[in-house]
Amino acid sequence: MKLVFLGPPGAGKGTQAASVKEAYSVAHISTGDMLRDNVKRETPLGREAKAFMDEGKLVPDELIINMIRNTISGDACTKGFILDGFPRTAPQAEALDVLLQEMGTSLDRAILFDVDDETVVSRLTSRRVCSSCGAIYNVHFDPPPEDGRCRNCGNLTIVQRKDDTEAVIRKRLQVYHDQTAPLIEYYTSRGLLSRIDGTGPKDAVLALLAER
Ligand code: AMP
Repeated sequence: MKLVFLGPPGAGKGTQAASVKEAYSVAHISTGDMLRDNVKRETPLGREAKAFMDEGKLVPDELIINMIRNTISGDACTKGFILDGFPRTAPQAEALDVLLQEMGTSLDRAILFDVDDETVVSRLTSRRVCSSCGAIYNVHFDPPPEDGRCRNCGNLTIVQRKDDTEAVIRKRLQVYHDQTAPLIEYYTSRGLLSRIDGTGPKDAVLALLAER
């Protein structure tokens, strides 16, 4: 199983990828999580990426493609993978095709989680995440436990992401419409796109995904 999850920030790509990973033992590759880990560890990549991320801009293609290359061809991906947040530009999509070709394989599907901008803003301003394990909460629908400990890893590390403020979310949406939405046509023209309504509750979206 080799899938790309497409959609605006806050469309539920990470949440759904976590469920599919558990059900099918495939790797969940989130370029956002990989970058945040690099920022936390203050690696050269993290230092370079941080300013772009804080402003809601895309990190340059070259850095992202180099970061993803070893991961996709590594042991963790032998049963397949879900790419969450990659590719985000046409050059990234083309680089992915080349990389998979070199590996003698190809994508099975690109799933687009369709969510309108105002739903994104409302979801992301109420999103909380565990900075240790990446677990996702929502203050209205799935609030963090009262003792503040993450249900998944038990750490006291549930935070609001720095880029989940309304101004940065609006910038990220603009970047999505300008640079990432053209990939919908890229995958449609290759016969790979499936479109799913991502506005419902998590289990309803998962059920739609299972039909694909
Ligand atoms: P995400 O967690 O997917 O919302 O990503 C958070 C931030 O990381 C984005 O706003 C970008 O700054 C950066 N980022 C993640 N994935 C990519 C990518 N494929 N290309 C460029 N920048 C990315």
